[in-house]
Amino acid sequence: MSKVPNLASALDSSIFKTISKAAARLSLESYVIGGYVRDYILKRGDAKDIDIVAVGSGIALANEVAKLIPGRTKVSVFKNFGTAMIKTGLMELEFVGARKESYREESRKPAVEDGTLEDDQNRRDFTINALAISLNDSNYGDLLDPFGGVDDLKNKIIRTPLDPDITYSDDPLRMLRAIRFAAQLHFSIEKDSLQAISRNAERIKIISKERIVDEVHKILASEKPSIGFALLDKTGLLPYIFPELLALKGIEEVEGQRHKDNFWHTLEVVDNIAETTDNVWLRWAALLHDIGKAPTKRFDKKTGWTFHGHEFVGSKMVYKLFKRLKMPLNEKMKFVQKMVLMSSRPIVLASDVTDSAVRRLVFDAGVHVDDLMTLCEADITTKNPKRFQKYHNNFKRVREKIVEVEERDHIRNFQPPVSGEEIMKTFGLKPSREIGIIKEAIKEAILEGEIPNEYEAARAFMLKKGNEIGLKVV
Ligand code: ATP
Repeated sequence: MSKVPNLASALDSSIFKTISKAAARLSLESYVIGGYVRDYILKRGDAKDIDIVAVGSGIALANEVAKLIPGRTKVSVFKNFGTAMIKTGLMELEFVGARKESYREESRKPAVEDGTLEDDQNRRDFTINALAISLNDSNYGDLLDPFGGVDDLKNKIIRTPLDPDITYSDDPLRMLRAIRFAAQLHFSIEKDSLQAISRNAERIKIISKERIVDEVHKILASEKPSIGFALLDKTGLLPYIFPELLALKGIEEVEGQRHKDNFWHTLEVVDNIAETTDNVWLRWAALLHDIGKAPTKRFDKKTGWTFHGHEFVGSKMVYKLFKRLKMPLNEKMKFVQKMVLMSSRPIVLASDVTDSAVRRLVFDAGVHVDDLMTLCEADITTKNPKRFQKYHNNFKRVREKIVEVEERDHIRNFQPPVSGEEIMKTFGLKPSREIGIIKEAIKEAILEGEIPNEYEAARAFMLKKGNEIGLKVV
């Protein structure tokens, strides 16, 4: 038998000694397992979430650990799951008893019984997540790797410890986890596993939308999200999660005219934006910015392919998609809708950057105008280097103009310089249509550049406008 590698170096923090001591007091075996070990070997920075498995009661171990930590330490117990959690410093320790699981067809919740470390490693999703480091005095630091997880880390492979068909069918969330890890770590999913995902894709239906969205968020937050979305497509999971994106796939040709494949274009846009922003909602906007193109696609003999009004249709689809996926229908959704709705505005502007058009853009996009520009820049996917440069230069000019106009006119957080109340007082009016008309006229005059965005000018304009519509100053 080959020598067991020792990874005591992974146990630098004093907390591991504490856990070891607590486990010895209870005469339990304990191990660090899962993501912490994986990320340590991959040198992926310091993981803050640490999973501890006890051969015995995880809750009892957590309570014993808490006693050994100086000061008062809170143990959060989740009795139904047999787990307990301790926060100490920046670390979150999750304790669980080693268990053996067996599954039924219709649920991803297994029947659970106490088990050994090996049983517990068997129930883990991937070989790279089944790695454990001993915290026991007899073999402190030994790496227990029954399925060749270290080799898989070296070879950048995602593989299930047991038969992949069973692993994925038992808990279909693992299919998404495989894809998410592939995207996060730039790993490939081993062939048998990939085929098993395709065979079991339909089983994703038993997974809650919230869980699915959690994984999608992680895919979107990764460095190159297209890896994940391409795998969702390849494995046949995409139609269950994002039928709207699937509908963008394919190129049609009529009378020798082709349009681009909007699915692959979308993935390029998402990768582009991932290089410039960590804002996951802006990444969502990139993912969904073209979804209105499938239902609006038309071929016109004169103009060729058109997607007239796709931004408006797309922004409505965002609501339905968020609702279907049980995502929050809050200001984040509204932000994504707004980005989709406005996604073509800067493009229209780019060839003729007038002050008033820029003011209108800033007025409509408000505080999100920079995000909108970031989205539009990411949308440039032409492979023609000259055009690529030209489009970027155009947007650069728009950005410069935004700064210039902003310095002068402060449109971004537009507040009417003359209030409705002042209009009422000046002309002795009760709340009425006239007030709206005057307010709107002032706003238009500012956006058109007829008057500056200042009180004196706006008041003078108000008096003039009031006079025009027959109002008298009182
Ligand atoms: P990350 O924190 O980056 O999501 P992680 O591997 O720590 O990575 P967790 O979801 O915290 O992910 O899970 C902790 C460990 O629990 C995993 O490493 C794995 O061993 C196991 N695990 C989590 N989910 C499953 C699952 N659905 N099926 C089997 N094992 C799982």
